Amino acid sequence: MKLLDPTLLKQNAYLDGQWAAADAGATFDVLDPATGERLATVPDLGAAETERAIRVAEAGQKAWAKLSGKERAAPLRRWFDLMVQHADDLAMIMTREQGKPLAEAKGEVIYAASFIEWFAEEAKRVSGDVLAHPQADKRIAVLRQPVGVCAAITPWNFPAAMITRKVGPALAAGCAILVKPAEQTPLSALALAELAQRAGIPGAVFQVLTTADARTMGGVLTASPVVRKLSFTGSTEVGRILMAQSAPTVKRLSLELGGNAPFIVFDDADLDAAVEGAMISKYRNAGQTCVCANRFYVQAGIYDRFAEKLAAKAAELKVGNGLEPVALGPLIDQPALDKVHELVADALGKGARVVTGGQDHALGGTFYQPTVLADTTPDMRVAREEIFGPVAPLFRFERDEDAVALANATEFGLAAYLYSQNLSRAWRTAEALEVGMVGINTGLISNEVGPFGGVKQSGLGREGSHLGIDEYLEVKYLAFQV
Ligand code: ADP
Repeated sequence: MKLLDPTLLKQNAYLDGQWAAADAGATFDVLDPATGERLATVPDLGAAETERAIRVAEAGQKAWAKLSGKERAAPLRRWFDLMVQHADDLAMIMTREQGKPLAEAKGEVIYAASFIEWFAEEAKRVSGDVLAHPQADKRIAVLRQPVGVCAAITPWNFPAAMITRKVGPALAAGCAILVKPAEQTPLSALALAELAQRAGIPGAVFQVLTTADARTMGGVLTASPVVRKLSFTGSTEVGRILMAQSAPTVKRLSLELGGNAPFIVFDDADLDAAVEGAMISKYRNAGQTCVCANRFYVQAGIYDRFAEKLAAKAAELKVGNGLEPVALGPLIDQPALDKVHELVADALGKGARVVTGGQDHALGGTFYQPTVLADTTPDMRVAREEIFGPVAPLFRFERDEDAVALANATEFGLAAYLYSQNLSRAWRTAEALEVGMVGINTGLISNEVGPFGGVKQSGLGREGSHLGIDEYLEVKYLAFQV
């Protein structure tokens, strides 16, 4: 891999500030999803190494927590600067292991860095309260203290940002955090660790544990009474398992799970703006984001025009290796492509119609055509399941209340989007949607300042924003007699 700074490509885990192999020397390969080429070989850590990392974190966290917020902010700020300085290399590593186009990868690196900058600033603002006691001779003080040792399990679709938005607030709050990156994309995590080391973040409080056996490592992390909190981003299915595994030790949990985002286009929408928002929300990262529009609900009066314009734009998207100037890279792996095949076949079998795409891309591999399906209906799997691919199913609706009812008819509740030029209608609809985030006349909702998270079975807690650090803080109340 061609990097300006080749030392950013690490093939060891990062434990206690050291670049380490697995005890038994076990490894696994990291592949380029665009070509199948082997990019690197990283340690396959097991239970013993995980236990050791937990003990190291436990010892190191105490000293880290004793620093002032301002003192913790300084290395975080340096880490942010280094990420920005090395953004091109970080983007290259990401594109190679994850597949997203280089420009998108660079965008993610900057977005990922923004969480470190933001929480470096927030570190200085963790303060308590003094409250008026109901009795005249007593006082109440409220402290906010770090949770302690935390663990993060992260997905492959945002190999950098899903790490920094957990590690940033954890370190700012005075916690230690062990990160288990997705097995498909450990290289971005390790490059971030190299920069954290250069920035002066103590090796004990941020460690990166690579493994091909997520179940075993997840089991050790959740069983440990020392690990006081788990932050997980991934599928609802795995989230449920980790929640159950965390029950015996009553861990704090942040869960950012699956989505099934509705994208509602009302008759009065600005059509071009709605199409533009749909393109961003649907095809970014080849449809592999948890906030991707999954179900388009389009009002009858605008349906045909929306379908035609969206399909025309989708058909123009260039698909290819993310190193080339393309809009869509490959899907992450064969199971991801298989799922898209199944969902499209199910929809077509039940009466949906292909407006554009609908097939594997001529490039082969896991490349899939940007697709628009019309005449989709609620009995199809695309209405209920997360597609995680570049397929836009368009459902027709007549009345506003039908759109809301259809949008809410899912166990998920992460993001929703709506397009309307009528303020009351937009407000009314946004209030009625059972989700954690609503994009109103915009297809892009993620940034470090807005609280990101879901309701229902899309998860628990919020990441980013001034609220994000609370996930890593405990409240302690002191009662004084004066
Ligand atoms: P995806 O379908 O996006 O790969 P997953 O929920 O399977 O989502 O994966 C997200 C993260 O969870 C990855 O880091 C993966 O290794 C990890 N993971 C998967 N299964 C388990 C498990 N049983 N215990 C702990 N972590 C797991």
